[in-house]
Amino acid sequence: MGIYPFFIPFDDSEGTVVRYQGREIIMIGSNNYLGLTTHPKVREAAIEATREFGTSCTGSRFMNGTLALHEELEERLADFIGKEKVLVFSTGYQTNLGVISAIVGRGDVVITDKEDHASIIDGCMLSFGEMKRFRHSEMGDLDRVLGSLPPDVGKIVIVDGVYSMGGDIAPLPDLIALCKKYGARLMVDDAHSMGVLADGRGTSAHFGVTDDVDLITGTFSKSFASIGGFAGGDEQVMHYIQHHARSLIFSASLPAGNVAAVLAALDVIEEDPGYVQQVSELGFDIGQSETPIIPIMIGDDMRTIIFWKALFEEGLFTNPVIPPGVPPNKSLLRTSYMATHTKDQLERALNILDEVGHRLDII
Ligand code: PMP
Repeated sequence: MGIYPFFIPFDDSEGTVVRYQGREIIMIGSNNYLGLTTHPKVREAAIEATREFGTSCTGSRFMNGTLALHEELEERLADFIGKEKVLVFSTGYQTNLGVISAIVGRGDVVITDKEDHASIIDGCMLSFGEMKRFRHSEMGDLDRVLGSLPPDVGKIVIVDGVYSMGGDIAPLPDLIALCKKYGARLMVDDAHSMGVLADGRGTSAHFGVTDDVDLITGTFSKSFASIGGFAGGDEQVMHYIQHHARSLIFSASLPAGNVAAVLAALDVIEEDPGYVQQVSELGFDIGQSETPIIPIMIGDDMRTIIFWKALFEEGLFTNPVIPPGVPPNKSLLRTSYMATHTKDQLERALNILDEVGHRLDII
C-alpha cells in the first residue's frame, strides 16, 4: 500500500532536520534529546580521538580492548550518577543483557514491569532465573507478585526510569518501599532520563534515592550523543559483573571516538545545565508523559501508520509504534523533542500535527 514506515534511509541528518529524497523533514522521532550529536565540541572530540587512537579497539574490554579513556569515562560517570563504580559496555542493549544474565542465577526471581524495554526482557531470558511481571507502574500488582514469592529466594525488580514509549517516570520511592518490604534488589534502566532529569543525572537523582537503587544502567545512544552503554553500582557488585557479563567479555569494546564523544557530551551537560526541554500540547491524548517523549495515542495499527505517513508527507518525522512494541489496540505515534529544536521548527511541527490530526479525524 506504499505506507511501510520502517528503515527509512535519510540522505543527511543534522539533528533537528533530516533530508529524505531531497525534502527537508523536521525530526521529532529521535532520542537526541539534547541535540548534542552535532555540537561542535562533541563532534571535534570524536574526530580527535579517532585521529589519535584509530577506528576500533578490535577486542573486548577483558582482553585487549580497554583504553585509559574507557576508565576515565567510567570514573567520570560514577561521579556523575553517584555510584561507586561504573562499567562501560558497547551498547545499552548489551549492558542490560550482560548485567541481568550475570546477576540473576538459578533459583533467583527477576520481576519486571510489563512495559520494560526489550533489552531487559532479553537479559532475563538469557539468565537462569525465573521471570515474573507486574502491571505497568501498578504498585498493588507488584506487592501481590513479591508477596507470592518465598522469603528466602534472591529477588530483583527491574524497571525503566523513564518509559521509552509513554514518557512516564517510574515511581521509584514506591518501588523502593516495596523492595525493602520484601528484601528485593532494585535495578533501574535510565536510558531515557540521563541528560534529561535532575540536571541530566537521571531518575534516581530526580527522586533523591540514588543510594536505594542497587544498579543503574544507561545508554550513550540518546542524550550522550554517541553509542555504548553503562552500568553503575557498588564496587563489589560491579567487580562481579565485570567478570561474569558475557556481553562485555565476549564482544569488542567501544571505539575511542565514541568514548570521547560521551566525555565531551558530559562536559557540555555539566557546563550548561540550562538545556531545557520544550514540550507542547495541542489537544491530542498524550497519556502520562512528563518528559520530552510525548506519545500520541491512536489505538488502531493501520490508523497509526496512515497518520504517520500523512505527517511524513507534510515534512514531519515521527515513530509509529505498533504491536509488539505496544499491547494490541494501543498503537501510538512516539514523538520526542530536543533542546535544540528552534521555536520555528516546533511551531511548524505543531501546525502539521494540528492540520493532519483534524484532517484524519484524530483530534
Ligand atoms: N534501554 C532502553 C530503555 C532503551 O530505550 C534502549 C534503546 N532504545 C536501550 C536500553 C538500548 O540502548 P542502545 O541503543 O544503546 O542499545
